[in-house]
Amino acid sequence: MLDPHEASTIAIERRRARAAVKRSIATGDREPLAVARVAWDIENSVEASLRITEFLGAIPGIGAIKIPRILATLDISERKRLGALGRHQIEALGAWLRARPSSAGLDIAQGKLVVVAGPTAVGKGTVLARIRELHPEVKFSVSATTRSPRPGEVDGVHYFFVSDARFDELVATNQMLEWAVVHGHNRYGTPREPIDDAIRRGDSIILEIDIQGARQVKAAMPEAILVFLLPPSWEELVRRLETRGTEGPEEQARRLTTAKVEFDAQHEFDVAIVNDNVDVAAEAVVQLMSID
Ligand code: 5GP
Repeated sequence: MLDPHEASTIAIERRRARAAVKRSIATGDREPLAVARVAWDIENSVEASLRITEFLGAIPGIGAIKIPRILATLDISERKRLGALGRHQIEALGAWLRARPSSAGLDIAQGKLVVVAGPTAVGKGTVLARIRELHPEVKFSVSATTRSPRPGEVDGVHYFFVSDARFDELVATNQMLEWAVVHGHNRYGTPREPIDDAIRRGDSIILEIDIQGARQVKAAMPEAILVFLLPPSWEELVRRLETRGTEGPEEQARRLTTAKVEFDAQHEFDVAIVNDNVDVAAEAVVQLMSID
């Protein structure tokens, strides 16, 4: 049990945190849609705890007169919190927010499907981790794979680790947007449903998949942006693979063979980004999502 003093301190902190979110919307530092997406994705977030009236009221140009009218149009009760909206309400509010002109410099309101590929050890994981940190509203596809988890990998977070039989079933029932055998043995694939959901909601979503998968996605969805992440040089790539030490010599050799094939396919991509500096590469990917 919390003592009453502790409980009231927490309540004050939450109120301060909510005020900070509202201020960031009012000053244009954060797009309302980006705030709403955090609320919808992270149950216990400060964003989720905002009342719908507080949220709307923080948007420049919306005051006490407009709020009830907007809520009536969207069929949302005044007492609702942003994180407790139903599916139809989320879709309606999302569409309404997207239809509004954007005030912030970086507008990622228009959802984009971005496929990031690139040779092994180029630092895809590090660049994507930085994007997660900087832009929590961006979604990431979680692939299914038949390979076994590495230490620290969590099912449903890093991958969905599935058996061969389950993978067969997912393919047979058309639940994979794309799939491929990577590095000569294991199968990896992108579950279709989360991608369809993201596109329907206008969210941006990033897929980190291999070149064969990237080709399949482009064929199915020509609007997808294919990004090829490059190391500063081939020598640097070999050095990164050798020094990270997560693969034995045989696996390293196999991965370098795949890397050569991927290098030769660079021209099939829409954009090439050199991963010289993680922050710069991460921002370059995010910038792609902000272009209409
Ligand atoms: P790892 O075994 O190191 O986690 O992944 C090896 C490679 O598999 C990744 O670098 C990525 O290119 C590829 N990969 C991961 N998920 C998918 C997927 O869903 N589809 C395809 N085609 N490739 C994937």
